[in-house]
Amino acid sequence: MGRDGQGGMPTYDYQAADPKCACDLCRERFEVVHGMNEPGPERCPQCGCPVRRAVSFPYVSAGRWSSKRLLDRDNLHKHGFKTGSDLLEESKGGLD
Ligand SMILES: [Zn+2]
Repeated sequence: MGRDGQGGMPTYDYQAADPKCACDLCRERFEVVHGMNEPGPERCPQCGCPVRRAVSFPYVSAGRWSSKRLLDRDNLHKHGFKTGSDLLEESKGGLD
């Protein structure tokens, strides 16, 4: 049981670190399946050129603006935004 079991292996995009050293496989992004805690391949399995992880998920770089901070009610109110529940309450009141 568990999400780390078989079938749940995440895939990562890899790409040649140096475009001058690349084969058909690593010139474009290619997917590698490995565990989250495993280091990825350092070299292309086909040509042996160095590869690097190609970051394709936007949330990877979302460290500065975590969803918690963005969705924080006080923070939103401070900037004059209304949260979903505020709008819900307002529309509810308007309908009655
Ligand atoms: Zn290659």
